[in-house]
Amino acid sequence: MNVETLDELIAKNKVYCSMGANASYIPALASVNPNQLGISLYHIESKELISAGDALVKFAIESMSKVPALLLAIEDNGLTTVLEHINTEATGFAFNSPLNMEINHDKHPLNPFVNIGAIETTSLIKGNSPDTRFSRLLTFVKEICHDESISLNEEIYESESKTGDINRSLAYYLKGNHMLSGDVDSILEVYFKQCSLNVTTVNIAMMASVLGNKGVKPWDNKRLISEESATLVKSVMTTAGLYDESGEFSAHVGIPGKSGVGGGLMGVAPNKYGIGVFSPPLDKSGNSLAGMKLLKDVVEELSLNIFN
Ligand code: GLU
Repeated sequence: MNVETLDELIAKNKVYCSMGANASYIPALASVNPNQLGISLYHIESKELISAGDALVKFAIESMSKVPALLLAIEDNGLTTVLEHINTEATGFAFNSPLNMEINHDKHPLNPFVNIGAIETTSLIKGNSPDTRFSRLLTFVKEICHDESISLNEEIYESESKTGDINRSLAYYLKGNHMLSGDVDSILEVYFKQCSLNVTTVNIAMMASVLGNKGVKPWDNKRLISEESATLVKSVMTTAGLYDESGEFSAHVGIPGKSGVGGGLMGVAPNKYGIGVFSPPLDKSGNSLAGMKLLKDVVEELSLNIFN
């Protein structure tokens, strides 16, 4: 794949930017320029990075932060302990629905990528204050994205926190069901901050490449996470990475993915590419509309569908 082909695919799919809508429930996301589409691909073997379009624009990581948060919670507690708290089941409900804890027999969150499961995950990150826990997560995100400059977007954080009553209700629901230990406000502070990190498509491509390379950072060949945890996370991305549209995404795109309401989309082509995509307007399920179309074209062009 060369940059010219990527440019062509961006030009082809840009039309979809006008067919979705920015997330509006977080006011700071509603005001982002909707007419943006960018992509980065990091090739695991050659270590070559190619980018096109609005690849270097900074945007809020949002739900894609649930991936590094889960990886750190696993590093901190071990996979078995994390899976005693959170299931790995698909959902047909919206990402912020309390039903994501209701329909299973054990009353545990259905998976770590719906909000109720992500808040539970964040509560498992170790540290004796919210500041320590957030700073440990930020250090981990910088490392897995290979970028020391990643930082908190204060405006998004304030907006998240001010309008986060559904997430508050999910956290109290967890607590009321004896699933959260610790102070609810402190856990939510870390959760709102993790969603408000500024990233680029390059950062997301790098993170995806670590998952695609079985937990080893391709750029320095050093292991960051266990192979077991990389495998688990990729499989949950396949069944639950795109909210209640995960089945469609697997059927029509065919690689593990994770989206965020900031318009970001991460794709993992195992042993081949880490992919980061960005375009703010979302479809009804909360996934980047142009981003998914572009990713589908790239996966087809490079024959990356894991089910082929
Ligand atoms: N901060 C967002 C929320 O908690 C993240 C959700 C998302 O990106 O899906 O509502």
